[in-house]
Amino acid sequence: MSSANLVDINNLQLKLYIGGKFVEAPLRLPVVDPATEEVIAHAPAASESHINQAVEAARAVFPYWSTLDGASRAKHLDAIAEAVKRLKPQLAELESRDSGKPLAEAMWDMDDVSGTFTYYAGLARELDGKQYEAVTDLPPGGDFTASLRYEAVGVVAAIVPWNYPLLMATWKLAPALAAGCSIVLKPSEVTPLTALQFALIVEEVGLPAGVINILTGGPETGAILSNHQDVDKITFTGSVPTGVKIMTAAAKGIKNVTLELGGKSPAIVFDTCDLARTVEWVMFGCFWTNGQICSATSRLLVQETIYDKFVAKLVEETNKIQVGNPLAEGVKMGPIVNKVQFDKVMGFLERARVEGINFAAGGDRPTDCPRGYYVRPTVLTGMQPTAEVWSTEIFGPVLSVMAFSTEDEAIRMANDTEYGLAGAVFSGVEAQLKRVTEQLRCGCVWRNCSQPCFSQLPWGGWKRSGIGRDLGREGFKAYLETKQIVTHVTENALGWYNVAKL
Ligand code: NAD
Repeated sequence: MSSANLVDINNLQLKLYIGGKFVEAPLRLPVVDPATEEVIAHAPAASESHINQAVEAARAVFPYWSTLDGASRAKHLDAIAEAVKRLKPQLAELESRDSGKPLAEAMWDMDDVSGTFTYYAGLARELDGKQYEAVTDLPPGGDFTASLRYEAVGVVAAIVPWNYPLLMATWKLAPALAAGCSIVLKPSEVTPLTALQFALIVEEVGLPAGVINILTGGPETGAILSNHQDVDKITFTGSVPTGVKIMTAAAKGIKNVTLELGGKSPAIVFDTCDLARTVEWVMFGCFWTNGQICSATSRLLVQETIYDKFVAKLVEETNKIQVGNPLAEGVKMGPIVNKVQFDKVMGFLERARVEGINFAAGGDRPTDCPRGYYVRPTVLTGMQPTAEVWSTEIFGPVLSVMAFSTEDEAIRMANDTEYGLAGAVFSGVEAQLKRVTEQLRCGCVWRNCSQPCFSQLPWGGWKRSGIGRDLGREGFKAYLETKQIVTHVTENALGWYNVAKL
């Protein structure tokens, strides 16, 4: 069945994908277009039996898939990349309607999806020459030689969130496939549509049955999957509270685990920066993806010498951001993903008002968007570091701003958080960029920019922002186990029990 051209909003694939088959399940998960508040589809809810079947299918194909040479696996990854390229407009439109992100951003996401599959196809090929690694630093003159061999971890459960639905799935699928793992993917119940359509691509490229299984369902589906005794690794992207549950499940089964969690990342602006460019990056760093980015630089620290001028320009430009239907031309901010998240964001803003925090921009629904979960891009000033909006991840288009005087103070304030995903620093002084970079306690530092993300670079957080890395070579190794191999190479007997010669 060459059905991937069926990626069509009016003709959606709404079945689970288990062991290479499309499987019907009760369509219990309403999918709401956040721009209109209308239900546009119902996604299937996987039962425990579906989860068991998916894990079994992944287990059954694992010996074949994991021992196939990397070049053969790479062909499948390349074919997926090509199919995503071909279907980019349809997939992007679907992603945009499902998640509310502006269409142009969803198009970027699809480029990233295909680029990530292509990148890991390269690493799968490279593995063929590097699966064995000689160990050359054993003590010299000994009786043994040693080498290392890298092998696929096993059956992977991948559980992903709603802010980059297909891209977050790809960050798990591509390296896991390249390494030789088989996978059960559980997309977010909030945005299940592109993952379901992705099953058509998996089928079109002829991936062996069971290598990728796709199950939609809510938290309970994720919980059953992560507690499944035949899953070897859980790779999760989502909130800290769910991360705690995933890690608990992993601990019970002593499973390999990667956690990509939340953040409250700082952007530090020094008075030597290029003002206009910095305003642009600061806005992008917090308002991109409708402000729903784990790495959003949503705590802005501005040097007091330029504070008034910088904030005035920031507010002026923020007020110009076109908010509206994500499919409309020129729109740079769509709605919040759903009512639950909209109410959460509005709750933060209401409490900030009660606390007496100043709303320099936004803070409410745009008057010309009576329907849909829209929030105007918001800039908050006049707060203490103890304010909820300064310390807690909001996951909406809300930028909190404070002033600082010295570099030391800025670094202290930037690091004063339980999170450690990312940070941005803006300065015209190279030595200052270097000093601040070295002192920020987080997994990713952007210098004179915010949010650029490359498949080639390891992505992940320190502190409560997570454990392990997605992307890059580290994100590949996360799906490989290391086997040490030791060979006795001399005639010398061990001589411990003095076993007589036969
Ligand atoms: P979430 O934790 O509510 O849900 C994420 C996924 O986990 C969903 O698929 C959900 O169904 C599943 N889930 C929920 N409860 C579960 C349980 N008990 N066991 C197993 N699975 C369960 O997160 P969300 O609201 O979808 O996403 C927003 C969060 O994701 C934010 O905190 C954001 O910072 C984080 N995030 C992090 C990164 C990163 O790379 N660090 C990227 C994107 C999003």
